[in-house]
Amino acid sequence: MPIETINPATGETLETFDALTEAQVEEKLARAEAAFQAHRRTSWDRRRAWMTRAAEILEGEKEALGRLMTTEMGKPLKAAIAEAEKCAWACRYYVEHAEAFMADEAVETGAARSLIRYQPIGAVLAVMPWNFPFWQVFRFAAPALMAGNVGLLKHASNVPRCALAIEDVFRRAGFPEGCFQALLVGSGAVGALLDDPRVKAATLTGSTPAGRSVAERAGRNLKKTVLELGGSDPFVVMPSAEIDAAARTAAKARCINNGQSCIAAKRFIVHEAVADEFTARFVAAMEALKVGDPLDDATDVGPLATESIRDEVAEQVRRSVEMGARVLTGGSAPDRPGWYYTPTILTDIPKDSPAYTEEVFGPVALLHRVPDADAAIRLANDTQFGLGSSVWTRDAAEARRFTDELEAGMVYVNAMVASDPRLPFGGVKESGYGRELSVFGIREFVNVKTVWMEEAGPTDLPDAE
Ligand code: NAP
Repeated sequence: MPIETINPATGETLETFDALTEAQVEEKLARAEAAFQAHRRTSWDRRRAWMTRAAEILEGEKEALGRLMTTEMGKPLKAAIAEAEKCAWACRYYVEHAEAFMADEAVETGAARSLIRYQPIGAVLAVMPWNFPFWQVFRFAAPALMAGNVGLLKHASNVPRCALAIEDVFRRAGFPEGCFQALLVGSGAVGALLDDPRVKAATLTGSTPAGRSVAERAGRNLKKTVLELGGSDPFVVMPSAEIDAAARTAAKARCINNGQSCIAAKRFIVHEAVADEFTARFVAAMEALKVGDPLDDATDVGPLATESIRDEVAEQVRRSVEMGARVLTGGSAPDRPGWYYTPTILTDIPKDSPAYTEEVFGPVALLHRVPDADAAIRLANDTQFGLGSSVWTRDAAEARRFTDELEAGMVYVNAMVASDPRLPFGGVKESGYGRELSVFGIREFVNVKTVWMEEAGPTDLPDAE
């Protein structure tokens, strides 16, 4: 895949980049290793100052950075600006909490003193997707750099400008050369990076096949991975729900980021007692979304990020309809330049159709009717994925049951799924493993070191400068 910036709203190629040569990659790996040896010893005050400055740059330059994202992958500008702000939030969250999350923990044993110490491990490779081109990276980088690790970013090949801009944010924030580097390479270069002894671990956010391939190679090298993969999140609506709020949120939850979010609600599972009312309101809400130029403030849904993604979504819908699915609204690409797809709802979805079995990464909702909560849970769990889930009910016992029984990394009740620096983010089943954000995120890439002092005496190593 060429490394290039193509504006999805117009199809125009804005810039093409040469992939790094092997010698250039070698130089960056050497720089990462050297940077780690210094960075792991930097004081908390320094790390906090640099990460705070990164947050200030993100906030101060959010319009320009937002425009960069929008012209490179098509999300509405207002959402791109909000993404820059959210990255700043994650930076500040770890500024505030990293030291406590990494502090020694005393454990009562038979020793005079025993404790758990958390230490950074070195260069972590981040293989990242284009859909939240800043957020996906910052939610890895903020905890990693605060923990004392260094970051190597292999970003998706269609967002090289974002990759370089993020590297620039960290450099300008004060992080020394080599602490965070973007590697403009294709996915074919990832295997050799995982084989390199200077790369200690990897995190990948992307599709399940990409995750499988990285996990296999990392496994051969006995290196830890965190995988944030695809999702086909259920959005369950039960009779006691506030139907209007559920339907309005459903449209938003399906079409956020032009329908290209791993935690977008994708399968709408509605109790038959409220299915007619919900369907009418959901169709109206989807039809009310304004599809158009992502730089226009009034736009809700911009183009899909690449031509091949748009074509794949169109093909999944076409094949599902051919097999018997029914289109309630949308179902086609509008006749205009750029890679747009009209917000769509399909129902009567055959079990073996692509709309049932695959993740649809575009603004296409799949609507199912169910007779009761048992059927809702069965259908919600009838997927290889297990990332997020959303349940709409005002019945407390029912809410409790769903939070227990849904096979997902996250359950949101009467709300759409969203990531939040304070809460762990990740999935089960083929949605991956490991967690980002919160205390769990920062502890994924650390040496959890047991320290045992048989006899009483000074046990604490002196603090870093
Ligand atoms: P993708 O094709 O898997 O690409 C993601 C990243 O992996 C890119 O940097 C890509 O590089 C690289 N890659 C692809 N194949 C690889 C391989 N065999 N070995 C090593 N690296 C490889 O995914 P995408 O189409 O960009 O993103 C959409 C998918 O990501 C969806 O399934 C979505 O649900 C998932 N996603 C998950 C989360 C989450 O947190 N769980 C968040 C966002 C997105 P190139 O660009 O150079 O090919």
